[in-house]
Amino acid sequence: MTIAIAAISCALAGITIGLIIARRLGDTTRATPATQAALQPERPAPPWPDYVQVLDQLPIGIVIVAPDRATVYRNPWATTFGGTHAGVLLDAMMEPLLEQALVGEHARQVLELYGPPRRSIAVASSPLPGGGALASIQDESERRRIDAVRTDFVANISHELKTPVGALAVLAETLVGETDPEVIDRVAERMVEDAHRAARTIDDLLELAGIEMGEALVRERVDVADVIAESISRARQIGEQRNIHVEVLDIPKGAAVVGDRRQLVSALGNLVENAVKYSEPGGEVQVRVRADDGFMEMMVADRGIGIPARDHDRIFERFYRVDRARSRDTGGTGLGLSIVRHVADNHGGEVLVSSREGEGSTFVLRIPTSSRVEALRQQGVRQ
Ligand code: ADP
Repeated sequence: MTIAIAAISCALAGITIGLIIARRLGDTTRATPATQAALQPERPAPPWPDYVQVLDQLPIGIVIVAPDRATVYRNPWATTFGGTHAGVLLDAMMEPLLEQALVGEHARQVLELYGPPRRSIAVASSPLPGGGALASIQDESERRRIDAVRTDFVANISHELKTPVGALAVLAETLVGETDPEVIDRVAERMVEDAHRAARTIDDLLELAGIEMGEALVRERVDVADVIAESISRARQIGEQRNIHVEVLDIPKGAAVVGDRRQLVSALGNLVENAVKYSEPGGEVQVRVRADDGFMEMMVADRGIGIPARDHDRIFERFYRVDRARSRDTGGTGLGLSIVRHVADNHGGEVLVSSREGEGSTFVLRIPTSSRVEALRQQGVRQ
């Protein structure tokens, strides 16, 4: 895509520099209207736009210099750094690149600005047919950031899967030739646990990938009471094991949202499961709903171990856990809250947390009500 834009820019620039130079010549050798009419046979107005206007609209910077090194054109994007420290560095980097292009070579260099925010600006120069040179400037910061996130993600997945799979291999080796039934039972039990752990990570990864890649989002009217009932039943088994009671309070009559029922159950189910997992045995979890200014707020509150304030922002990142050992003991994958955040985003809503270490946590999933979505739709706003 960017290569295509650069190629088009180069072609346009060739035409533009011709036009700009011709325009300059035209100014100095101005002909009378009668002579012009005689010189130019009558033809329809061109259907194409003024190429300078096209270059003005490009989402990358374009600088054109004439053979005598004078800058003949700079599009608006290329002036966005003007007068800044970054602009000075950029001009200093561009000059030798344009020199190279003027002697017929293609050149490219990336300027790294350490910010914050960190930015990577790439400048490529090329000679223009008929003389002169072009520099194109592109902000590659976002693409580089996404590449880094992707690389991190792959490294994290490998690590998360390597641990249980590695443990399985070691346990299987222990079983070879083992005859003591007690040892066989104990090792087999641990193998089942590790196999489940790997399977849960894979399941959560697939679910997160589907939600993140914008898997076709169903938009139907969903009863909040149904979402809550299904979410709680998802956490029932672990709740019974830990002897934790989940109580549902005040669901407003007829409370409904517009969205994807499966995704909403997945999000709220993760919040309820976490509340149960991170409560002390015998504790209590409360789920309540209230309507607030066009949003349905589904709240899940526990009086469990709580989350230190410094971790509030990070818990929604993939694979982030406050306490690795505890998350592992409770069968956590570190992906639950990432799923919740993506579901909230997909629905035009948000997820909020308030928590104190040692006192408990309250998570709020805010999803626009069906009437808000309908009102926005009538105003032509898409969520
Ligand atoms: P996990 O599978 O480890 O539970 P999540 O993405 O669901 O992963 O949560 C990320 C981390 O946030 C957890 O590892 C845990 O440390 C913390 N956390 C989430 N919910 C709660 C809660 N209700 N109480 C205390 N800590 C929580």
